[in-house]
Formats: sequence, C-alpha cells, structure tokens
Amino acid sequence: MGRMVNTVNGPLPAEELGVTLMHEHVLQANWSMRMSYPHWFNYDEFMEYASEDVKRTREIGVRTLVEQTPVCLGRDIHAIREVADRTGIQIIACTGFFYTENQWLFGRSEESLMECMRKDINEGIQDTDIRPGLIKCATDVAGVTPINRVLLNAHARMAKESGLPIATHSYYGNRSGLQQMDVFEQHGLNPEKILIGHCGDTNDLGYLEELLSRGCYIGLDRFGDDEKNPLKNRVDTLMKLCERGWISQLMISHDYVSFVDLGSFEWKNKRGTDPDDAVYNSRYIHRYVLPMLRELGFEEKGIQQLLVENPKNYFLA
Ligand SMILES: [Zn+2]
Repeated sequence: MGRMVNTVNGPLPAEELGVTLMHEHVLQANWSMRMSYPHWFNYDEFMEYASEDVKRTREIGVRTLVEQTPVCLGRDIHAIREVADRTGIQIIACTGFFYTENQWLFGRSEESLMECMRKDINEGIQDTDIRPGLIKCATDVAGVTPINRVLLNAHARMAKESGLPIATHSYYGNRSGLQQMDVFEQHGLNPEKILIGHCGDTNDLGYLEELLSRGCYIGLDRFGDDEKNPLKNRVDTLMKLCERGWISQLMISHDYVSFVDLGSFEWKNKRGTDPDDAVYNSRYIHRYVLPMLRELGFEEKGIQQLLVENPKNYFLA
C-alpha cells in the first residue's frame, strides 16, 4: 500500500483520492459570534444546505474535497465530518492559522503556535481523533509583516517536523507567493509538497512562471469567481501554462464555501435558497471549465492530470 492521507474519516491510500478539488471550504463561521448570538448561524439548517450542496458535487464526479479552512477562519471539524458522513465524499482537513487578524496572535512565539498544530497532528483536531492532511497558512494584502513572518516560520517548521504538505493563501498583487517560497526554502521544505494558493486571480505569466520554476504547485483555485478574474482569462492562462509545459504543477479548484459569514454574507440570505441558485459553486469546473477545455482541444489525459494525478502526487511526495 502506498502512502496514507489523513481524511476526516480516517487514513486513506493516496491512490484512492480520485478526482480531487484541492482548495474548497464547507464552512467559515466566526466562533465568537456563533457562541454569542444564536441567530448568527443555525447549525442544523447549515447542515441540510451544505450536505445537499456537497452531495451534488459528489454526484458530478468529485471524490475528494480538501477543506482549507484554518483555525481562525472558523474551522469546525464536527461540521466537516458530518458533511463527509452524510454525502460519502472524502474530505481532507487542515491545521494552521489564518494571517494576522487576531489580537491574540500578536506577540506569539513560533513555538506556541507549533504546539497547537502539533496537538492537532499527533492527537486529533478539537475533541476528535481526526488528523489534518495538510498545513495551511496565509499571507494577504499586507504582505509578509513581522507577525506574518512568525506565522510562516511556524507553519514551515511544522511541515518539516510532521512531513505534512503545506498549502497557502497568497495575494498576487504583492507577489507574496514568492516570499512564502523564500521562507519555505529557508526551512528546507520539499517544493513538491508546497501549494501556493490563489495564483489564478492573475494572468501575469511572468509571476506565475517565476513561482513554478521554484518547483512548487500553484493553485488556479478560484474558478467561478468572475469578479476576481473572469472565466475566459482564467482558462486562457491555464491553457498558456499548459502549453509552456507546467501542467504537472497546476491545481484547479474553486475556493467555494457552502456557508461563509464574512462581511455581507449572512445566514439569513441562504435560507430558502438552492445550492444551484448561484452558478459559482463546487460544480463550476465540471459544468463550465471542462467543456471549455475540451472545446479548445484539451485532452482527457490533461484533465486527469489536473484533477487526479497532481493532487495524488502532492500527497505522495
Ligand atoms: Zn480558501
């Protein structure tokens, strides 16, 4: 048997991941608000919605979702596992912290953050025995600030110590994917176990190829989010990168969340809606992107490479 990957339903051989969406979310809801105001979030209603949503994604052919919600973005391992149980989809959860927006992160040492991640990895997340399948960290518009550097160092050291792969949230506008790679290289991480996320929001081939030449995977992971980058451009950039020989380092996904309470998104807006009312969901690639790629002459082997082989190789590395 090959290398095992931790899913929320236990370890699974990497060969059994099948069609995998590398950057998705089930739930992002603020724990403080959930605890303080019952109307903020209704778990049962959420579960009905999310399991229907994810069930449809499984029916369209997706076998595995990588749930990249880190700790301070509302990770809820019970919700994630219940969605997996109800739908039969395989879900891989992560450990790690979001970037800087938490008062309690200021002044923390790398060791203190590593101790938390180590608990998730060795004992299980929250009060379960579920182990993370990867480490998630983030840098956003503020760039690699002093706090963010502490975070990146802690996550890189934990990746080294545990052998888990690492995935990031990055922002192309400040080219922070390259700075993340600098930190990961300083800590001696294997680039084949690194996925720099949110690279598909830009069509700057210079930036993307600079990242790819360092050996990591990049995430073209917001298909369906036309506001950040329209579909036509996303597909165009994907095609160009494939033509230039980078297909084995590309991951395609949606960064879709069944429910998120950030900013103007509220639970009451989801009530009574259908998971397919909006075209942007975790079926978008199968419904819109793959037909476009086929139309453009993209071969089935290439689609298999993007959705099956690359995710498997990342977890096997
Ligand atoms: Zn995300």
